[in-house]
Amino acid sequence: MTTSTPAPTPAHVRELAAQAEQLADAIEALRRQLSRGEDTLRRTGYRLDDAAGWVRQAAQDLQATASDMARLAALPTDACAVPWGVCPEHGNTLIASGNMTTCKSAGCRRTWGYNRDTAPCAEPATHRLIVAEGHETLVCDGHALDARARLIARIEPM
Ligand SMILES: [Zn+2]
Ligand SMILES: [Zn+2]
Repeated sequence: MTTSTPAPTPAHVRELAAQAEQLADAIEALRRQLSRGEDTLRRTGYRLDDAAGWVRQAAQDLQATASDMARLAALPTDACAVPWGVCPEHGNTLIASGNMTTCKSAGCRRTWGYNRDTAPCAEPATHRLIVAEGHETLVCDGHALDARARLIARIEPM
């Protein structure tokens, strides 16, 4: 037996999601079978709608996890170093819920089909953010805007 486990891949997580979908299908099939049975048997199935729903939710969460992993793997090498997203134009103005993110700045219609709060920023780095001498981070337009608004660092264009 080997002690090193291979790193999980998005494909592996999608496989788990497919297994969860199959389990949800099986639970729903069982529910249908029970509902065709005698009254006393039929009543034993009352938990199964919820159970199937939870397993479907698990499948969706696994799919979203796989997408996050794939996005991380595809991060460009010149990407901003901040581990959460911003609106590239307006900065720290995002509202994320579930697997959707929108910018709340008036007139900005940007939306993203994933949670940008938990995904590393993939915008190109355009500014040098200097927190202390010798400690600098390369950040995008949106994160430079946010840092400037909060006066947390010296910011210089690259
Ligand atoms: Zn915006
Ligand atoms: Zn950024």
